[in-house]
Amino acid sequence: MLAEAGDSAAGEERAEHWRKRDLAVLWHPCTQMREHPETLPLLPIARGEGPWLIGHDGRRYLDAISSWWTNLFGHAEPRIAEAIATQARTLEHVMLAGCSHAPAVELAEKLLALAPRETGRAPLAKVFYADNGSAGVEVALKMAFHWFHNRGETGRRKFIALEGGYHGETLGALAVGDIPLYRRVYAPLLAEAMFAPSPDAYLCEPGETPAQRAHRAAEGLRELLERHAGEVCALILEPRVQCAGGMRMHDSVYLRLARELCDAHGVFLIADEIAVGFGRTGTMFACEQAPAGAGGADGIAPDFLCLSKGLTGGALPLAAVLTTQGIYDGFLDDSRERAFLHSHSYTGNPLACAAALATLDIFETDAVIAGNRATAARMAELAAPFVDHPQIADVRQAGMVVAFELSRNGERRTPFAPAARLGLHAYRAALARGVVLRPLGDVLYWMPPYCIDDDALQLLADTTGIAIEHALRTGACD
Ligand SMILES: *Cc1c(COP(=O)(O)O)cnc(C)c1O
Repeated sequence: MLAEAGDSAAGEERAEHWRKRDLAVLWHPCTQMREHPETLPLLPIARGEGPWLIGHDGRRYLDAISSWWTNLFGHAEPRIAEAIATQARTLEHVMLAGCSHAPAVELAEKLLALAPRETGRAPLAKVFYADNGSAGVEVALKMAFHWFHNRGETGRRKFIALEGGYHGETLGALAVGDIPLYRRVYAPLLAEAMFAPSPDAYLCEPGETPAQRAHRAAEGLRELLERHAGEVCALILEPRVQCAGGMRMHDSVYLRLARELCDAHGVFLIADEIAVGFGRTGTMFACEQAPAGAGGADGIAPDFLCLSKGLTGGALPLAAVLTTQGIYDGFLDDSRERAFLHSHSYTGNPLACAAALATLDIFETDAVIAGNRATAARMAELAAPFVDHPQIADVRQAGMVVAFELSRNGERRTPFAPAARLGLHAYRAALARGVVLRPLGDVLYWMPPYCIDDDALQLLADTTGIAIEHALRTGACD
């Protein structure tokens, strides 16, 4: 391995060395490879430390988006690293069909104890593991369909998802996603899904409040459910924040309304908290934020809860799908075909489970949710000056997520032309100043590791301002 320290010329040479070797052999995710290296600089990372990534060039880069929303407590977190190392020396893996191991059991117990609850509803009671978010979504979709199938309700084979939603890249998950850039090419391969209006508060009509928008979107959902009565097995949604769709946020009353409509139509509710779970939006799970229903307390419980990303603190791939005893029981039978035969070779991998257990321990020992409240308040202060910016149409926040939506004259209905690629220009400007901001189109956002300190937050805010000005100067005039 090449040394890390040294003068900046030597650093640049080392980074270039890795860029060349990389581009000779790797095909990167979510990337038009033609843009490397001219349009997009490739960033070779040597190691991580807290919210920082340290490049082979010797420079430090602030990971402002938590490495695609996975990282919670910083990179190379010693307690998580130790848990993985200890587990690796004990039992690295064993198949979970027919075998059992302590990390899988203990993690399931802890997740079920933490899961959102709702008065009058049976709690989530069983955990099925997968090894990434998309695979977790596939599990929930297949289970929902199969449960009805086992009951002889074979006409229930449709899914409803929300406009602007995202649930992953495998064909089943892509089918319930509504981001044209990822979906359009593959449309001929995808199962048909139905899309209900998004409660997205950014789409409010003039004078409409986010809560009113949520009620209007719920009316659209109601119509869809009525029109397709008896044909739908589940509604899938991202509670509170549609992340990949541009960090679009909605009033949490929508969660209550969607829960009620699913119940009224005998349809399962799949909460995809892959990105928003584990404290990201201010509560452990976003479902907890739904306002109280008739006679109940705050919070809804879904029939399926999909978790991944932050589940291991960002250290290893793992997904968990939590569901109810009633759904589990629907698969018990003498016939193997009525069983849920889905599996992945690495289902319930002990190393990943050990990382997840260490992650949940940190939530307790470090009082993470309370700490995040203070950090989120500081993020709100730092974001406030952007509200009046003439080319920012919206500044929004849900806990540890803040988003800035650029538009030509600061109004919602005047987006920049996608070809202007403002996000790309902002990304490059921020990177040159040591911050990894990877905008979603014209939406810049902060989604930092929870351990980010005040100085790093200040750097993030300053750099965001510079990156926006740079993008507007360069991109908007191209
Ligand atoms: C990232 C994400 C997924 C997919 O997870 P992968 O691990 O990337 O497959 C699914 N749903 C949501 C809401 C996500 O943000």
